[in-house]
Amino acid sequence: MAKYNYEWVKCPDFVTRDDQDNITEIKCKVCGTVIMGRIERHKERPDGTKYIIEQLGPYYNYTEIKIGMQDGSAHVTNGCDKCLRKDLPADRLIELMLADAEDQKNWSNWDIWRTATGVHVVKKGAGGIE
Ligand SMILES: [Zn+2]
Repeated sequence: MAKYNYEWVKCPDFVTRDDQDNITEIKCKVCGTVIMGRIERHKERPDGTKYIIEQLGPYYNYTEIKIGMQDGSAHVTNGCDKCLRKDLPADRLIELMLADAEDQKNWSNWDIWRTATGVHVVKKGAGGIE
């Protein structure tokens, strides 16, 4: 369970994992709407046999933003298309990254992340932000 008091982030426990620690679902950190879940993918073997696998995939509302820091570095995070916008103020960006650091139990970037200046890129769909 999340340890910190968030003012804007309503769902700091946004990642659901199964017994084997595989991620089964990811929610928007802000509002709790599901943005990634298990999706069936239709595959075909070289011999033509068709089969279905289930893997984690983005839903229609999945959105990424690239957050810029004072030192020029950046952090990419995800959420839903309603909550993540270009005009988010720094205190909200810092809450998003606090939730990421808490989920990943990795505070190595925290001194840099807390200097967030603004959102550089908003992109709907998974991947592609550099
Ligand atoms: Zn949301």
